[in-house]
Amino acid sequence: MEKTPFKAESKRLLDMMIHSIYSNREIFLRELISNASDAIDKIYYKALTDSSLTFDKDNYYIKITVDEPTRMLTVSDTGIGMTKEELENNLGVIAQSGSLAFKRDNEAKDGHDIIGQFGVGFYSAFMVADGVTVVSRALGSDAAFRWESSGVDGYTIVPAEKDAVGTEIILKIKESTEDENYDEYLDEYRLRSMIKKYSDFIRYPIKMDITERRPKEGSEGEFEEYRQEQTINSMVPIWRKNKNELTDEDYENFYMEKHYGFDKPLKHLHISVDGAVSYNAILYIPEKTPFDYYTKEYEKGLELYSNGVLIMSKSPDLLPDYYSFVKGMVDSEDLSLNISREMLQQDKQLNLIAKNIKSKITSQLQRMLKDEREKYETFYKAFGTQLKYGVYSEYGSNKDVLQDLLMFYSSKEKKMVTLDEYVSKMPEDQKYIYYATGDTYERIDKLPQTELVSDKGYEILYFTEDIDEFAIKMLMNYKEKEFRSVSSGDLGIEAAEDLEQSAAEANENRALFDEMKTLLGDKVKDVRISKRLKNHPVCLTADGEVTIEMEKVLRAMPNSQNVQAEKVLEININHDVFRSLRAAFEQDKEKLGLYTTLLYNQALLIEGLPIQDPVDFTNDICKIMV
Ligand code: ADP
Repeated sequence: MEKTPFKAESKRLLDMMIHSIYSNREIFLRELISNASDAIDKIYYKALTDSSLTFDKDNYYIKITVDEPTRMLTVSDTGIGMTKEELENNLGVIAQSGSLAFKRDNEAKDGHDIIGQFGVGFYSAFMVADGVTVVSRALGSDAAFRWESSGVDGYTIVPAEKDAVGTEIILKIKESTEDENYDEYLDEYRLRSMIKKYSDFIRYPIKMDITERRPKEGSEGEFEEYRQEQTINSMVPIWRKNKNELTDEDYENFYMEKHYGFDKPLKHLHISVDGAVSYNAILYIPEKTPFDYYTKEYEKGLELYSNGVLIMSKSPDLLPDYYSFVKGMVDSEDLSLNISREMLQQDKQLNLIAKNIKSKITSQLQRMLKDEREKYETFYKAFGTQLKYGVYSEYGSNKDVLQDLLMFYSSKEKKMVTLDEYVSKMPEDQKYIYYATGDTYERIDKLPQTELVSDKGYEILYFTEDIDEFAIKMLMNYKEKEFRSVSSGDLGIEAAEDLEQSAAEANENRALFDEMKTLLGDKVKDVRISKRLKNHPVCLTADGEVTIEMEKVLRAMPNSQNVQAEKVLEININHDVFRSLRAAFEQDKEKLGLYTTLLYNQALLIEGLPIQDPVDFTNDICKIMV
């Protein structure tokens, strides 16, 4: 029979499964059981909310059957089943996720990691089987269909017979080779321990016929074998269990089984609340940033259960945006099953739960920062940017919650510090919290603008992300200390006599600076003596609210409004270059023009801003070399 080819993307994934990228093949069983459980969830939910369906809990289970001689392993369920179209759409293509498209674009980098970040699900069967057959009958249909595939060359779908609604997944387990043992997936005891390990908390019974031995009746010392159906899993959902009974591994397995992420969770949080509102929740902070985290495609949300029944797989209302990285589930008895999405948003109970969850996450993060610094820094590396967005967005309404969770790199400590740590170490005479912006720590280290502040022995926070300065502007101050860019006009460092002296110096040089300003025209607002430079001849700083870094960020945004910083060219009058400048001013106006343009362009380059005409610039340099 003619085979339908897999869609290109599915084919690639299948290919990867067959040449299995996972060292951990045994997870295929977890994936199939998890799908079966989802399918029963769906029919269970329908039965509870649709009075025309009757529901008998005993009829819902998952069964694992092994037939060693034919190498067949079957996972069957009494779930909602699939129609012909669903078989085609769900198993013939994995277009929904979009992660493969992403992978293609980023192929070279870290293929393994990325592919690990989406549900491998059903396809993982091909890691252990060289043929997979799915027989399914959908709820409300008399017809059943058989989907069959032996790998990349495609699949077939034909009508089939099936007595009851549900799905059977039949794997033809691969032959063992010298290097690979597949026989273990036909071993009852091995399968039983895999189920125990990965699927113990599945809420429906996972049944298996197990061969046991018992003393043979009537004959002393002899045994006989017999087969008996057993339920392998404990069936108590993990969130209903007592925390003391659970190990880190249990929580990790639940995280994997639920596809919350393919990293190991960095931290879990098991919440049981009884009070004005009652709920259980298991929340996770992932270790790694999901590949699509900072894109539009990423959807935040927690699984929402009403008394053990899944009612929504991603309820966004349970998490504030700044904690959108949190994964996990919430189960509450106080929610109605029949509630619609729109109603949920206004649900009082749900709002209470969301508020409660938010404060639990906050205190968890605070605790981690205090007691597990290294872990917190790992977390911050993955999701710190999100916290900074949180400070900035919603007009800063969440800044009080978030400001103590922020960290920045410190010029003095050469590591990440919190604002509290910074402020508590400030010398008496230091007025402001200083920061400097740049692409990398190394570049900021070299910024001429930092010289005066560093010389004073003050600590500088390094801002390397676009959001940093915006977030800080929203905070305005921390513990009554204002933030100040090392490039800002007033650094609050000069002593009174310094001020007098600089006024005198400024007067002395006014005519020179005025002429330089005229030469530069609109490009700068002013030319001034620099108080902050020690070893460099020039730098650019900004007057007013918009700093040069902010101008760069705003300019890179779509529909930017051409916001400009008011730039000031600062000159170091103690530098040898200044003497040449004065001489030119007195004797050679053409040279003054050349020097002024050169210095201005140098200042732009130091700031990482483009110079208007690089050819002119190099010509200018040649002129002074000749
Ligand atoms: P995922 O489970 O991550 O969506 P899978 O590839 O494992 O991805 O499964 C794809 C889809 O096929 C599922 O979303 C579900 O709709 C359907 N499916 C898989 N297994 C079953 C099953 N046992 N019963 C009903 N539907 C199933």
